Amino acid sequence: MENYQEFEGIVLSIRKHREKDALVKIFTRNHGKRMFFVKNIKNPNHSLKAALLPFTKATYLGRIKDDGLSFLQDSREITHFSKMQTDIHLNAYATYLNNLADAAINDAIQAVDLYDLLEESLVAMQNGLDPEVIVNIFEMRALQYFGAAPQLQSCVICRSQQEPFDFSVKYSGVLCQRHFGEDPRRSHANPAAVHFARIFQLVTPKQVGNIRIKPETKKAIRTFIDELYEEYVGIRLKSKSFIDQMYAWETKVEIPRRSAAAPYPKESGPSDPSRS
Ligand SMILES: [Zn+2]
Repeated sequence: MENYQEFEGIVLSIRKHREKDALVKIFTRNHGKRMFFVKNIKNPNHSLKAALLPFTKATYLGRIKDDGLSFLQDSREITHFSKMQTDIHLNAYATYLNNLADAAINDAIQAVDLYDLLEESLVAMQNGLDPEVIVNIFEMRALQYFGAAPQLQSCVICRSQQEPFDFSVKYSGVLCQRHFGEDPRRSHANPAAVHFARIFQLVTPKQVGNIRIKPETKKAIRTFIDELYEEYVGIRLKSKSFIDQMYAWETKVEIPRRSAAAPYPKESGPSDPSRS
C-alpha cells in the first residue's frame, strides 16, 4: 500500500463527481498528471477547498496510487494565480496552457520540464508579462512532448544560421534563402514570425521579460505556430478555439464615437460582429 507523501502540483481541472465529490486532475512536479478523488468538496469548510481552485499551485500531502485514483489529505504553501480568475483574457490563456499541458503527456508520466514551464508561464502572466508571448513560448517548447522537433535553428540543408528563413514541412525545418528552391511547396511563412519562433524555442517565459512585439508581427507568429500545430500536433482544443474567437470578435468591435452632430448614437453598445 502506498504511503502518504508530500508533492508539489498545479491544478489542471476539476470535475464534479456524483453529488458531493470531485475528481481533480493535478499536474504534479515529480509524479506527472494524476487524478485525485476528493470527497465532499461541496462542504464549505472542506480543508482542501482553497488548494483545489482552478489556477492554483500548492504542496499537497496525499497518497499517489499507481493504478486508479489518488487521494489528498492536506495542503500548504498555496499559490493562487488570482489574475487568471478575474481577467477574462488571462483566464482564457491559462486555461489553454493547462489543456495543452494535459494533452501533451499521458497520466503518471514524469515531465518536470513541462511542469516547470507551466508554472513559470502562470507566474509570468500573473506578473503582467505579455500573455500572448508567454503562450507562444509555451507552445514552441511543448511541441517536443507531442513528438515534434522541427529544426528551426539552422538551415536543414547547409546549417546556415543566416536569416531570413522559410519553413519546409518536407524537411521539417527551416531553409535559408539560398535553399528556398529545395522545397517548391515551402510555407512562405512570415520571416519575422520564424525569427521569433526560433527564439521562443530556446527561451523560458522568465527570460523574455518585457519584450515588445508589434501587433502585426504577433499575428504572423500566431499564424505560423498554428500551422506548426496543425502539421505536428493536430488536436483542436476548445480553449484554443475560444481564444481565436475572442480575437476575431474583438478586432471587429468598433467603439461608437459621439460627435457634435450626433450626440446620441442610436446604438450605444458594441456593434454586432455578425453584421460587419
Ligand atoms: Zn541553406
